[in-house]
Amino acid sequence: MKTEILPVNESSLRLSKEIITSGGAVAFPTETVYGLGANAFDNAAVENIFKIKGRPNDNPLIVHVHKDYDISSLVSYVPEYAKALAKAYLPGPLTMVYKSKGTVSKAVSCGLDTLAIRIPSHEGAQEFLKYVNLPIAAPSANISKHVSPTSAEHVYYDLNGKIRLILDGGNSSGGIESTVLDCTGDSPVILRSGLVTREMIEKIAGSCGEYVLKEGEAARSPGMKYKHYSPNCRTMLFEFCDLQKAVVEYKKNKADGEKVKILCDDKTAEIIGEADILNLGKTESEIAANLYLKLREGENSASLIIAIAPEKQDGIMVGVMNRLKKACGSKL
Ligand code: AMP
Ligand code: MG
Repeated sequence: MKTEILPVNESSLRLSKEIITSGGAVAFPTETVYGLGANAFDNAAVENIFKIKGRPNDNPLIVHVHKDYDISSLVSYVPEYAKALAKAYLPGPLTMVYKSKGTVSKAVSCGLDTLAIRIPSHEGAQEFLKYVNLPIAAPSANISKHVSPTSAEHVYYDLNGKIRLILDGGNSSGGIESTVLDCTGDSPVILRSGLVTREMIEKIAGSCGEYVLKEGEAARSPGMKYKHYSPNCRTMLFEFCDLQKAVVEYKKNKADGEKVKILCDDKTAEIIGEADILNLGKTESEIAANLYLKLREGENSASLIIAIAPEKQDGIMVGVMNRLKKACGSKL
């Protein structure tokens, strides 16, 4: 299958609708990462998404809708705190999990009685969702376990030949996946941290829990238990306080002839000085936006990435650290 990358316009939107309504998959831009979407009502189309990605069939997909879509046809109950959060932060990088009405394909939720809903703010995503006017089940548009894609080129690298169309909406500005929030209880619980932070949720909902997966327990968000976001090369992760150990490791590997890159924020790069640096940038938003881009750049040019955790780790950095730990096989 020939894979085309097209800008979002009338003719590519028409093609995307043809593909979606005939049971195919389309990659589309969002403000977090690129998604690989299929008609959520079409069982075979949703199952095909799992096949294309090599995604484990117990890891549910998020249903994406445009901002005027009536989600009461999809979910049975939206609590007051969730309505307030939706008013404050949607469209945006926040996925909300509700009790499902069971109207979409069973394959979307992998047997769970809940459904994750997201309304992306990216203009191209809204145009696509509005044009097809269907709930679109979509995971990130990468091969399962690889680094999530933040550009059309990243999607092409992973899925060339496997899908017909990639809608190109430029680089994703957010850079890490949406916050996943369980809205089935009396108060919200974060299942996956992201750009809408715990502090932001507490401000509107009054309180906010954070779910931690315990050994031997069935995961409330199955995605938590899988290896994720991993570059195709060796990785090591050091805490900021172990900076010198990281530099020693870098020098040792370099002397052994290994192609090594150090992934760190701008402040750490300045302290280290001369080295092969993958610079994530200064602010926490820059660091999030550059994380997957730099991990992909690293895997294409190095056999080893030595990542150094930023010193500050609250707010958005909670989500960044979660991805960095998973990318490096959780050594922190
Ligand atoms: P991805 O699209 O690759 O970012 O993965 C979607 C994430 O949302 C995974 O971590 C899933 O486990 C999570 N998710 C999707 N649907 C549900 C649901 N109904 N309940 C809990 N987590 C969900
Ligand atoms: Mg993913």
